[in-house]
Amino acid sequence: MAKEALDRFLTPQLKELRDKGLYNLIDTVEGPNGPEVQINGKTVINLSSNNYLGLANHDRLKQKAIEAVKKYGVGAGAVRTINGTLPIHNELEKRVAELKYTEAAIAFQSGFNCNMGAISAVMTKRDAIISDELNHASIIDGCRLSGARILRVKHQDMADLRRVAKEATESGLYEKIMYITDGVFSMDGDVAKLPEIVEIADEFDLITYVDDAHGSGVMGAGAGTVKHFGLSDRIDFQIGTLSKAIGVVGGYVAGSQKLIDWLKVRARPFLFSTAMTPSDAAACMEAIDMMMESTQRVHKLWENGDYLKAGLKRQGFNIGHSQTPITPCMIGDEGLTQLFSRRLMEEGVYAKSITFPTVPKGAGRVRNMPTAAHTKGILDKALAVYEKIGKELNIL
Ligand SMILES: *Cc1c(COP(=O)(O)O)cnc(C)c1O
Repeated sequence: MAKEALDRFLTPQLKELRDKGLYNLIDTVEGPNGPEVQINGKTVINLSSNNYLGLANHDRLKQKAIEAVKKYGVGAGAVRTINGTLPIHNELEKRVAELKYTEAAIAFQSGFNCNMGAISAVMTKRDAIISDELNHASIIDGCRLSGARILRVKHQDMADLRRVAKEATESGLYEKIMYITDGVFSMDGDVAKLPEIVEIADEFDLITYVDDAHGSGVMGAGAGTVKHFGLSDRIDFQIGTLSKAIGVVGGYVAGSQKLIDWLKVRARPFLFSTAMTPSDAAACMEAIDMMMESTQRVHKLWENGDYLKAGLKRQGFNIGHSQTPITPCMIGDEGLTQLFSRRLMEEGVYAKSITFPTVPKGAGRVRNMPTAAHTKGILDKALAVYEKIGKELNIL
């Protein structure tokens, strides 16, 4: 039983969420992540993961993880500064820096932790951070933690960015100003306008910070959105995750040697949270090696994304303006979006509805995440279900 004060808080809050149908029940996936997964004993087509390259259950990664467990055990022992840095942690950071074309990199336990650590290691209450209004929750929290003044700008609106950068600079109120953006925005699949951003950053001496969680392994033949635009030496912070395309868990910051030297003594999740496990580090390293050996998986991912988009569009769905394999199917009304997703699931397609407050009111959508591991046959099956439910619910 919860204590009274806690109970007074929890009971009505939970009731309200449940009454409104907003209490999110978490599905248990009964097996490895792949193009199909088992949920409640039923095999369904999986269009909900961030396992872009299909590496989460790959034999080569599993083999390396097992070898690392045998050699180093299951835990790192402590935070890395005290007892936890293993050769594979250092090696992983070298590989990340190679992948990102930067001088150095630092690994964290997750992408979320990167944003908790990296922003506040550099920005303080005497600074300002200009932040795209659709930036990821972990960026928003990381900015808040720094204590810097947060200046929100309209999504991907370069005129607004320029205006805010100019005002902030001319105000003379701030020691430093940073601009932060997602590299790829995961709800719509649009790509940050980095060529324009670096120009504006140069003009106003902005520190640049790109969180490329959904771009790494996807854009720039796998190297990410910054590399895609040929800007590896013009973005100060390149954040990435090891939990999406890389298929495991963890995060990193890639940048100059000086920046990484600083983060190793000032980023709090690095200093006060135990290092990623040896097997995670080994599996991540193998994934990066595989990406550097061949771009075949990345090509397959894009081919599958294009195939799914073309199919949905042909059927008459509104698929928004994604520039990446992320394929939203725009429905609009929140209730209808949820019903659509539920019917898809009943017919064997696992694709999640995304509604307010994650996206604006009336902009509900079912988001599809194809991966390199999907086959044309699986995608055709999913498309047939889409068409059936689209007609059934009068969306087509
Ligand atoms: C997913 C995501 C994260 C969090 O990464 P994890 O490794 O899952 O913690 C951070 N930033 C962005 C932009 C993301 O999309």
